[in-house]
Amino acid sequence: MTTGTGSGTVGRPRVIGMLGGMSWESSAEYYRLANELVRERLGGLHSARLVLASVDFAEIEQLQVTGRWDAAGELLAGLARQLEAAGADLLVLCTNTMHKVADQVEAAVTIPLVHLADATAAAVRRAGLTTVGLLGTAFTMEQDFYRDRLAGHGLRVLVPPPDDRAEVHRIIYDELCLGNVTEISRQVYRDVIGRLAHAGAEGIVLGCTEIELLVGPEDSPVPVFPTTRLHVEAAVALSLAP
Ligand code: GLU
Repeated sequence: MTTGTGSGTVGRPRVIGMLGGMSWESSAEYYRLANELVRERLGGLHSARLVLASVDFAEIEQLQVTGRWDAAGELLAGLARQLEAAGADLLVLCTNTMHKVADQVEAAVTIPLVHLADATAAAVRRAGLTTVGLLGTAFTMEQDFYRDRLAGHGLRVLVPPPDDRAEVHRIIYDELCLGNVTEISRQVYRDVIGRLAHAGAEGIVLGCTEIELLVGPEDSPVPVFPTTRLHVEAAVALSLAP
């Protein structure tokens, strides 16, 4: 494995490069979880070695809605290069949706990209499940890039019907990315999750990094897979690996 600038030498954890701000509400979770997990693993005053590049999400969202994915990929690839130059030994792209351009980002650097969908699929497989319901932005639920990546790990992926997808998507952009967590929307998600479980989902992938701010295991009749936490766990494991 490549270790970038070599800061991951014996005894010092590798530096995690976080490419975030999409939205910053979830990047704050990435930061908190990474530090908590390192403290759990190493104890004492240990905290995560990391560098963060954070975008203006309004710019990314405009590129998404106008379908300029290449431009978004270029922008993120440039920031990934900056993270590598700043000493990152591994890279995490702190959003499910922008994994649409993960290949472009990965190709821009020599350090490994910890792919969010791979970390999630591994957790689903460890739980012994094969059929999952997927919640996320419309891009994540409706396009191939994310579902295919999960399917590549042998998973069958169910998505909600159109009306439910529209509501799940709206709540992400209009509420969660702005830090608004409401009981009304929590109930909407609970209902959508219930319908997915009824349709055969054995587990629910919370495939948007803000969703776990709204719902957790207590809101689902089947196990949930919180992608922010799973992604951070994978990144910290790689950071601390011998
Ligand atoms: N954070 C969200 C995700 O995981 C949505 C924001 C974005 O479009 O990047 O997909």
